[in-house]
Amino acid sequence: MAQIELGDVTRRFGTGAAAVDGLNLHVPAGCFLALLGPSGCGKTTALRLIAGLERPDSGVIGIGGRLVAGDGLFVEPEDRGIGMVFQSYALWPHMDVFANVEFGLRVRRLPAAERRARVRDALELVGLAGHARRRPHELSGGQRQRVALARSLAVRPSVILLDEPLANLDAHLREQMQAEFRRIHREAKTTFVFVTHDQAEAMALADLVAVMDAGRLQQVADAQTLFRKPACAMVARFIAGGRTVPVAVAPERPAEGLCRIRLQEQVFDLPGDAPSGQGLLCLRPRDLALAQEGGPGPRLHGHVEDARFEGGDHLLTVVIEDGPHRSRVTVRSASARRRGEAVSLAATGGWVLRAA
Ligand code: ADP
Ligand code: MG
Repeated sequence: MAQIELGDVTRRFGTGAAAVDGLNLHVPAGCFLALLGPSGCGKTTALRLIAGLERPDSGVIGIGGRLVAGDGLFVEPEDRGIGMVFQSYALWPHMDVFANVEFGLRVRRLPAAERRARVRDALELVGLAGHARRRPHELSGGQRQRVALARSLAVRPSVILLDEPLANLDAHLREQMQAEFRRIHREAKTTFVFVTHDQAEAMALADLVAVMDAGRLQQVADAQTLFRKPACAMVARFIAGGRTVPVAVAPERPAEGLCRIRLQEQVFDLPGDAPSGQGLLCLRPRDLALAQEGGPGPRLHGHVEDARFEGGDHLLTVVIEDGPHRSRVTVRSASARRRGEAVSLAATGGWVLRAA
């Protein structure tokens, strides 16, 4: 297993915005990192840069402590010690499973006995030991993806790069395969970089999640930290369906780890790390509760703009006004609410961060 370093890596196609823009990323050796972001944010380009299928316009890339791109140097993909798995499995249809997995070992001119042992180990690891003589068309989608993974593993790369490998599978099978990928990662003891646009998948799989937007890295953290302490409005929204509300942050700290904020002429003490001045309050649906008017504690006041039924609850979009700011938040409600209805909300959680 090897660590991966990207230092200020930029890749631009044509004259538009950079597909990958000043990316700094450290993937520790043996880590399972998910590269997460909306379609078109530059995930595949970042992966191809690590693989050596793209050349950076600027910046440096290192794998296992060795410079592979930048400073006038470029190591070809086949010399980087990496394996790749794509959404389309790219198996040879005329070869059986064994021959597909063996292919890369033949290319590397490994002796036959070594090839056999490695194919056997790789098929064992992905749970396909009994399927060596099948052709790809005799396998399910999930099995084909395992063959593709076995083919990468057989080469024993120090890093495996996976570009939305489960995107073609239906939801049920995808969940099964997520658990399988975690197990295989543990047993293979290899660094995994796994691209996905699905936040639930990233959270389920990875030790570390790197969130990208518009070519830029927004935050790298474990799932819980992204959920509880988003670094920006984009992460709050993308990870937890959170909304952000502009607030004034007071200079005084009510306690360690808490920020004092002013909103609708009331004071709230909530977790956060914002300096005094202009801030943003991130509120996930679960951070707000419908509350009695005039009950204890501060209240946010707003009106219901939209309501939809989701996961057994009604998910309300509530507009709250504060001076010149008009913001939207979402809150779960056990009962149906009318559009336009006035509601009071108690903030039971939230996260205060500095305004961008
Ligand atoms: P993602 O994998 O996150 O969906 P990509 O890395 O594929 O995003 O693409 C990022 C941006 O770069 C997109 O705007 C895409 O259109 C552009 N792009 C990617 N590859 C090329 C290419 N070979 N030529 C021109 N534009 C490209
Ligand atoms: Mg992509």
